[in-house]
Amino acid sequence: MPYHAFDLTGRRALVTGGNQGLGKAIAVALAQSGARVAVAARNAQRTAEFVTEARAGGLDVTGIEADLTDDAAIERMTGEAIATLGALDILVNNAGICFHAESWDVTDEEWNAVFDLNVRALWKATVAAGRHMRTAGHGSIVNIGSISGLIVNRPQMQPAYNSSKAAVHQLTKSLAAEWAPHNIRVNAVAPGYIKTDMAPVDDPRFTPYWIDDAPMQRCALPEEIAPSVVFLASEAASFITGSVLVADGGYTLW
Ligand code: NDP
Repeated sequence: MPYHAFDLTGRRALVTGGNQGLGKAIAVALAQSGARVAVAARNAQRTAEFVTEARAGGLDVTGIEADLTDDAAIERMTGEAIATLGALDILVNNAGICFHAESWDVTDEEWNAVFDLNVRALWKATVAAGRHMRTAGHGSIVNIGSISGLIVNRPQMQPAYNSSKAAVHQLTKSLAAEWAPHNIRVNAVAPGYIKTDMAPVDDPRFTPYWIDDAPMQRCALPEEIAPSVVFLASEAASFITGSVLVADGGYTLW
């Protein structure tokens, strides 16, 4: 078979938050590109349903139950992925949460929950996988950031989320620089609005800004973002590290 830079045959990948929405589409795209994939999330039932569906379609996908707000669970998830897959070449930090409220109304619990998962858990999972990749001598990490980490999105109801995604982008760059000598690439994808449970694109508070005013006048399907992750994870991006790939249908152009 001719060499194909996007081919992930023989690669082992872990996708956090991989049982629905964008994470599920990423897991499918990685597996369709030849990778063996483990998905980690809290809802074991939903994970099992996805794994069954994926395997029925001939994809190599396994599930891991893990609440990433628990440090011990992150260590266990990483160990389980390595044990099940045989190694870990690719980590996709996709799990994330968002609350919509003006700053006056954001509770401490909401603020902490957003940073705990979107930043702290991502950091812990990255370091856990990074240790393994350093020993192996290679690795590719793709973090899911957001246009919310690049611009102040209207109607300005995501102060914690926006800040957390800016932190994800900067952490991506910090680790890319630090780990380049270890042959570990660290990149991020910054999607625009995607039709998933997280984004209330049909909510009249958001539709005028997120859909009507967008250059393409629509949001993305998860399957339209996933290939960007495959690209960054693959050898096609072998000289790309520390980048934040914007996949937003032109949203940040104006
Ligand atoms: P969803 O809410 O559809 O999915 C979130 C995923 O994260 C689920 O699989 C969920 O599984 C998992 N998850 C949530 N909390 C935890 C936890 N504590 N431990 C482990 N897993 C957890 O969201 P999206 O698919 O839309 O979002 C995926 C990523 O994309 C996020 O990082 C988000 O910020 C980002 N993004 C989304 C955009 C959008 O418009 N939707 C735009 C830009 C970026 P479970 O509940 O079973 O744990």
